[in-house]
Amino acid sequence: MAYSGAAVPKVCSAEPLGLRKEREGARTLDVEEAASIPEAKSVLSSDNIYGSFAFLKAHSSDLPKYIEYLESSSLQLKDAIGVIDSLLQKQIPGPVGEAVTLKLKEVLQRNPGFEKMKDVCSILQAESFNFHNSWYREFDIWCRHPQKGKGVVLFKQYPGANKWICKHEGLSNSEWRDGIKMIGNVAAVRAVPGRSQDNRCRHCHNEVETLAHVLGSCPHGEALRNARHHQVRSIIATALKHADYNTFEEVHGLSVTGNTRRIDIIAFKESTRSGYIIDPTVRFETNEEQPVQVDNEKKNIYNPTIPYYLKKYQLKELEVIGLLVGARGTATLFMKDVFKRLGIPTSIIPIVTLAALKGSIDLLNNHLYS
Ligand SMILES: [Zn+2]
Repeated sequence: MAYSGAAVPKVCSAEPLGLRKEREGARTLDVEEAASIPEAKSVLSSDNIYGSFAFLKAHSSDLPKYIEYLESSSLQLKDAIGVIDSLLQKQIPGPVGEAVTLKLKEVLQRNPGFEKMKDVCSILQAESFNFHNSWYREFDIWCRHPQKGKGVVLFKQYPGANKWICKHEGLSNSEWRDGIKMIGNVAAVRAVPGRSQDNRCRHCHNEVETLAHVLGSCPHGEALRNARHHQVRSIIATALKHADYNTFEEVHGLSVTGNTRRIDIIAFKESTRSGYIIDPTVRFETNEEQPVQVDNEKKNIYNPTIPYYLKKYQLKELEVIGLLVGARGTATLFMKDVFKRLGIPTSIIPIVTLAALKGSIDLLNNHLYS
């Protein structure tokens, strides 16, 4: 891009050493060698050359950074167009500034592809906006559905645990299908509208055969329910051991009223002699307050055992944590906060939820087919 030396304000009369050397070097060049040499000699001998360089530095020194940014392969279209737009908005003073801006506009006008890219970018952004809006709208409708939306609201609390829905991670095809049916609450249990004249449980006949009953309370699935719980407990206990907790599972104790209680996990740090009684609870998802409700429920049960365990392990402090794990593979913000507080990597959360989900799939199939 050519700059007119005459139009550039003279910034400073003191010429830096580098520029003086360039000018002296130019004088030694043979004008016969190349057509550009006389032009370079003429430019470098101009009285305004230092002012021109200073002007360039003040108003154009960020150009290489922008060019490098635009060359990045991971750059999104909207960001690339944003760079060009910011250059168009750039305020360069004086006639040179006007000439530069005009030049850039002319170049872009001669480039119909740029306008097309802007159109594409607008469409993509609008689609993305509409997609997210419609996604949230549909999710809301789903959550409000009395049958199919039961507890689905918890799926949005920690989306990192929902990867299996899109990627089938850790599940066979049939397990994935069963998992999807469960989160839609359309698995073939008798309570699903239109499935059966008699909606009583086919095994225990005590309750309506809902998915919540099958996964949470039907005696027919007791052994598998225990296996699911043990699996979840074991994953969390192993993570606590890796985080340097002294960890014990299924410890019997006494409450202050003399009742026997068995805790799932007790974990404490040797250095502080303080720790936690943790009770992971796999339960059918129902509402957003459920994680806190489960925590309070477990605190009510196990707080009276704290004096017993403080004495047994010679500890200073213990806290009871009731930890809801969704039966259909949901994790909650409550769980994430607990993991962070305990110093367990949150990367364990999807492993925990997948174990719960697989256990629930086993329970469902055992209920329907055996
Ligand atoms: Zn039953």
